[in-house]
Amino acid sequence: KTILKVDNLEKFYKNKGSLTKAVNHISFEVQEGEYLGIMGASGSGKTTLLNCISTVDHATAGHIYVNGKDVTDMKETALARFRREELGFIFQSFNLLDTLTGRDNIALALAILGEHPKKIDGKINKIAQELGIGEILEKYPYEMSGGQQQRVACARAIVTNPSLILADEPTGALDSRSAGMFLDSLGLLNEERHATILMVTHDAFTASHCKRILFMKDGRIFNELVRGADSRRE
Ligand code: ADP
Ligand code: ADP
Repeated sequence: KTILKVDNLEKFYKNKGSLTKAVNHISFEVQEGEYLGIMGASGSGKTTLLNCISTVDHATAGHIYVNGKDVTDMKETALARFRREELGFIFQSFNLLDTLTGRDNIALALAILGEHPKKIDGKINKIAQELGIGEILEKYPYEMSGGQQQRVACARAIVTNPSLILADEPTGALDSRSAGMFLDSLGLLNEERHATILMVTHDAFTASHCKRILFMKDGRIFNELVRGADSRRE
């Protein structure tokens, strides 16, 4: 099943007469259960591409289909709902609410979607156990390490069962040990919960955890690596 189809996507920026082709004719698909990385240097267009997919940015041309629905011509009210129901987000800067404990950060995501109050704690406890974050759930974000915050963000992203999890440079603010623990958590969501994940990063160690990597430069995809030598020998 195709979860994401990016079809001839273009995003151009005009600045004082000069044109930046941030995303330049990009097409690719992501199947259900895939763990795709998009790797490229700073300025290669990764964030612009991700922002178009998450619909916070409007493409100049081309189409993006999520579960067969074209999100490039949806109205704003439909888009808000689409983002809430179909997408999970993991950011570089964690973006947990400092006014809420880890548990309540996750609970908020469920409550907004209308989850029955009696079911919320059960769902949180289950994912917390899977990710090994039970001990930090009652802490506030400012009492957690960066790695702990990002693992709570993982729980928040998956608990609503989104079709697609988008992660933008998620290890950018983590030291290598925390990054490793976070990437283990993300890998677990993919392996155990069959989450479909699209992650963008400039970091080779981070990208190396993905099952498939697309390489971006100057707004274009110039290469692809599928992990595992078998697929190359065929
Ligand atoms: P990356 O995420 O790979 O670092 P970006 O998508 O942020 O790349 O940027 C791609 C290119 O588009 C860069 O040349 C950047 O300067 C340019 N760009 C990004 N956002 C804007 C904007 N809002 N206005 C003008 N140029 C932009
Ligand atoms: P990232 O490190 O995530 O790629 P950037 O530092 O490239 O982010 O960009 C940060 C923000 O500034 C983004 O919202 C991007 O769209 C915007 N931006 C990037 N380059 C430009 C530019 N040349 N002109 C205007 N806005 C830009």
